[in-house]
Amino acid sequence: MRILVTGGAGFLGSHLCDRLLADGHEVICLDNLFTGAKANIAHLLTNPHFEFVRHDVIDPFKFEVDQIYNLACPASPPHYQYNPIKTTKTSVMGAINCLGLAKRVKARVFQASTSEVYGDPSVHPQPESYWGNVNPIGRRSCYDEGKRVAETLFFDYHRENKVDIRIVRIFNTYGPRMHPNDGRVVSNFIVQALKGEDLTVYGEGTQTRSFCYVDDLIEGFVRLMNQTETVGPVNIGNPGEFTMLELAQQVLKLTGSKSKIVHKPLPADDPKQRRPDITLAQKHLKWAPQVPLTAGLERTIAYFRTKV
Ligand code: NAD
Ligand code: UDP
Repeated sequence: MRILVTGGAGFLGSHLCDRLLADGHEVICLDNLFTGAKANIAHLLTNPHFEFVRHDVIDPFKFEVDQIYNLACPASPPHYQYNPIKTTKTSVMGAINCLGLAKRVKARVFQASTSEVYGDPSVHPQPESYWGNVNPIGRRSCYDEGKRVAETLFFDYHRENKVDIRIVRIFNTYGPRMHPNDGRVVSNFIVQALKGEDLTVYGEGTQTRSFCYVDDLIEGFVRLMNQTETVGPVNIGNPGEFTMLELAQQVLKLTGSKSKIVHKPLPADDPKQRRPDITLAQKHLKWAPQVPLTAGLERTIAYFRTKV
């Protein structure tokens, strides 16, 4: 197949491009390089089945493709809050442009949604049937509400225009090719530990997250895209749940770093807990994560040792 990956030069997008090429497809990677980097796809640029197009998803685009994966959107809180209006535009107009293209060329289209659609959840763990607890006017809203509108658009194009959609709700994912200054917790802690700097735990560090290794996530993407039992939304994530303090201690142990843990103010609307209910992924995709946190962290630490 010929497959378009928007946001293909980012952390997840570049791993997805690798996987699709390895599976024998042709890949067009569309990215404006806001948070992505050519370095993530440098090894693909000489591959005759790979094409990079520098373009912004808020401007329309046309490609003759069989499938579209829409990943374009900054994902780390400091990056998506840097220009919040642009973040909402990217989610909403990017979704409209992908859906319009999918409708014209009859391509199957996949939306990278997020556990942030659940906001600061009052149901735990989070099943797909939970509608969420999202602040519509806060600092995280540009991302959370942008992604929620994108899901709405996907379902309306599906119901009104019979567009063939798939929606994944991604829970916190980590691994090689996260940007060292990305601002997300796993990359922050590892980079800080390797540089001998203090590990910055926000708040008391009692808030929880569940971390999925990138290879597991990409396997879930491909399974969701290529089955016909469900259009989603389907949660993909690792149900292993940890406090941020536990994560910091684990990173210190695995890096052998002498860094100290310091506490910084908790950002506004920071969700207190998050863990995916993956019953649907197990049922429809026969998917479950395979890489435990320690093994995934070791691989990620090895990557960052080459970067810092
Ligand atoms: P990332 O920031 O590394 O990748 C995003 C990519 O999109 C970058 O290459 C960036 O340059 C590109 N991009 C941003 N705005 C664009 C625009 N207007 N036009 C074209 N390209 C644009 O982040 P990531 O972790 O790889 O996330 C990829 C997708 O997965 C995002 O949609 C994100 O919301 C979603 N997601 C990721 C996680 C996670 O834990 N990594 C969790 C939930 C959802
Ligand atoms: N966090 C932290 N120190 C950091 C970066 C993040 O303690 O240096 C916390 C953050 O407050 C949140 C959790 O780690 O509770 C996950 O943050 P991240 O930005 O990775 O993702 P998200 O909040 O979007 O899940």
